[in-house]
Amino acid sequence: MNYKIALIKGDGIGPEVVGEAVKVMDAIGAKFGHTFEYVDVLMGGCAIDAVGKSYPEGTAEKCKECDAVLLGAVGGPKWGHSTDPDKRPETALLSIRKDLGLYANLRPAALRPALAESCPLKNDKNIDLMIVRELTGGIYFGKPAGTEVRDGKRTGWNTMIYNEDEIARIAHVAFQAAQKRRKKVCSVDKANVLDVSRVWREVVIEVSRQYPDVELSHLYVDNAAMQLVRDPSQFDVIVTGNLFGDILSDEASVITGSIGMLPSASLGSSRPGLFEPIHGSAPDIAGQGKANPLATILSIAMMLRHAFDMGTEAEAIESAVHKTLQAGFRTGDIMEAGKTLLSTREMGDKVIANL
Ligand code: NAD
Repeated sequence: MNYKIALIKGDGIGPEVVGEAVKVMDAIGAKFGHTFEYVDVLMGGCAIDAVGKSYPEGTAEKCKECDAVLLGAVGGPKWGHSTDPDKRPETALLSIRKDLGLYANLRPAALRPALAESCPLKNDKNIDLMIVRELTGGIYFGKPAGTEVRDGKRTGWNTMIYNEDEIARIAHVAFQAAQKRRKKVCSVDKANVLDVSRVWREVVIEVSRQYPDVELSHLYVDNAAMQLVRDPSQFDVIVTGNLFGDILSDEASVITGSIGMLPSASLGSSRPGLFEPIHGSAPDIAGQGKANPLATILSIAMMLRHAFDMGTEAEAIESAVHKTLQAGFRTGDIMEAGKTLLSTREMGDKVIANL
């Protein structure tokens, strides 16, 4: 089969890590008899420099002609200060999610045994969870929102809003993900304070009746933040809204040791899904061959599994990453005494050698 993949390399370390992921993708193609064709799509700070806008016209259309999208990272201090949305790289991220209808963000956070020493937690190191975050609704998109001077005081406001359809579709994603894992879903809300959360909880409970094999629990977001560092092994799948998911998924990533290791998938009801490492453009190490490409390589594994239904190929990548780490190879961010330090490119080559 031939698959077409949009590559949004972006800024900073984006092009470096995407380059390694493409090498791995081609190696998978050769091993399993698939061909992957790539289409470069300009987005982010590099697009501001080239055409004056972080999200040039036609970006979503180009992506929609492909079977999946791989994104490196966008943004950096060079473009950080503009108040014009067209000149802000982050605008492009929100726009592409919206335009591709990517309402579900799946972020696995698993501590690999070879990296146990990088985990900042003292006791519970048995971490293997997946956060399912609603991505196109909630307070980041709710209207009304704005700023004005009210009674002589600068005032700002946003609206956290979800309707039952938005809640039900993300709940289905979470229950289905749990069915392929340890069959537990924890729904996180703030139903003791927020009306929107009361609707959230009601709908999640209704959807859960269609998944009798999955155990459902609920936590308030403040407690969930605490439980994630106190006892992360209690979690299998966590489902939550946009704002809470943004914060909790970053917290979950830090307890697994390195931001350079974690992939993500953003899915909608049709193709293409978008696959990307959770980290940003790391301007502090860009262009130095220091970036860890494993999060992007593992994002390719998620693409194969979720977009192309290639479970065996995805496992081949995950196992090659595991072998590479077990053999003691590290990039700078996960380096420990007694291990072998590799550059971005060398790490990509090692993974391919272990495929
Ligand atoms: P960051 O993730 O880029 O970097 C945080 C720290 O982690 C830095 O010290 C960096 O060197 C390190 N790091 C990140 N990825 C790494 C990797 N693969 N290998 C080794 N070390 C790695 O976060 P930041 O510094 O807050 O943001 C930098 C820029 O990236 C900002 O402009 C931000 O808006 C943007 N950003 C983009 C995305 C995205 O494109 N999806 C996500 C987050 C941040």
